[in-house]
Amino acid sequence: MHWEYLVSLDIGTIHDYIFGTNKLREIRGASILLDKLNRELPLDEIENSKYGKKNTDWRCIVAGGGNIKILFNDKSKAKEYKRYLASIFRENAPDAKFTVIISERKGDSEGQWLKRTERELQIAKSMHEERKQITASGLLKACQVCGINPAEDEDPRPEGTIYICKSCCLKVEEAKNYKSTEIYKRLIDGMGFQPEFPTEFSEIGEKSEPEGYMGFIYADANRMGEHLAGKDSFDKLENFSRDVHEKNFEAIVSVLKSHFTGSFLPIQMILAGGDDLILTLPAHKAMDITIEFCESFNYKLSSHNNLTTSAAVVICHDSLPIRNILSAAESLLKNAKAESRKNGGGSYIDFTVVTGSALEEPISKRKQELEYLDIGSYSITKRPYSLEEMKKLVSAIKELKKVDFPNNKLKALYTYLFKGRYQSILDALYLKTRLEDAHKDTMDKLIKEFNLTKIFPWEEIDTNRYTTPFGDIVELYEFIH
Ligand SMILES: [Zn+2]
Repeated sequence: MHWEYLVSLDIGTIHDYIFGTNKLREIRGASILLDKLNRELPLDEIENSKYGKKNTDWRCIVAGGGNIKILFNDKSKAKEYKRYLASIFRENAPDAKFTVIISERKGDSEGQWLKRTERELQIAKSMHEERKQITASGLLKACQVCGINPAEDEDPRPEGTIYICKSCCLKVEEAKNYKSTEIYKRLIDGMGFQPEFPTEFSEIGEKSEPEGYMGFIYADANRMGEHLAGKDSFDKLENFSRDVHEKNFEAIVSVLKSHFTGSFLPIQMILAGGDDLILTLPAHKAMDITIEFCESFNYKLSSHNNLTTSAAVVICHDSLPIRNILSAAESLLKNAKAESRKNGGGSYIDFTVVTGSALEEPISKRKQELEYLDIGSYSITKRPYSLEEMKKLVSAIKELKKVDFPNNKLKALYTYLFKGRYQSILDALYLKTRLEDAHKDTMDKLIKEFNLTKIFPWEEIDTNRYTTPFGDIVELYEFIH
């Protein structure tokens, strides 16, 4: 086939669109709309005979994960399709930012053309964002759901009528159809029956142990940009994109299926597609599911140049604003991925447990509160963890729980960690000598496992740099079962 035109679409700032509100219903609606706009409608449209025959007149290389790429050999058809894409976004998601371009081949090889298209898309995207800012001012009444767009409609609700913008209105309408999205369909198929799903985040909190908390998982593949840039032919790009999308879904569904059996499935899939996953679920399931998901994702995609995924986990009250939870998760994920890059790839997991009502930026908070200088530098956390180390940490907690390790001793050990080098070592050793035999055995195993034999409770990780897993063990303790 001789392809001359490439219609390329990029959905920018997906998170701003999805998390425009704190309500589960609108978030769910936004996520469904994106699914529809990224896959369902564009794929239905291209199958329409007016575009000619598949693989003769057009070819779809990518549809999902916020991108669409379709090749054409006829300019007017490419133009018509581009117009269609722009129109469905304007109609269904006036609030979502999207960029769509037609890139011409100009005699380039497949690889050169794909690279140039990415550059052209980035340029078009940056121009689009400038335009958006100019139109963002107005003196109209603001929408009572997102607080950003001018209100256009009234929405009667049990709690009273509210004024709502067009974008939020569409999200609300769409929210009813969540079971028809790709991920929910697969989930329902995978479970083998029709489960019930929560309508409020508090219903997830009710199923948490301890109650009132939820886990927020955000996973995203490592070095995706490099992997994509390495695809120098349409075939390679198509295979890779399809596989990532498929295997990501398979990994999610199989892991969730193994953890939930009842007819009520206390989870909310917020975003699943491409290499992305954002999911809320009962807090005590979050860590196990994150670990198993990463393992499964890495295994299923190992043939693609060892593509791996990193993840962030936020455990907090189910009533905290979801936008704040997302931004904490984003910063944790960035930290995990930076560690992965530093170590030449591999899955890394970062997490935070917030028991209060304020969610601060977790990375700088950690630096302030959990690191200090004494004779050398001491860190009361080892985050972010590699996948293997995270598994070790979680099983250490499970071991401690199995022997009913006394909570007060663990908490005491935690407070010693802040007392400086000598005092922390003295107090920790004294505590250890006073443990019952069964508890002492478990502690000894843990000490060996985490390299703490030389200067318990510390491990020297570099000259004069010390760290310990006990801070993380105590932080996670309640939420591991
Ligand atoms: Zn609104």
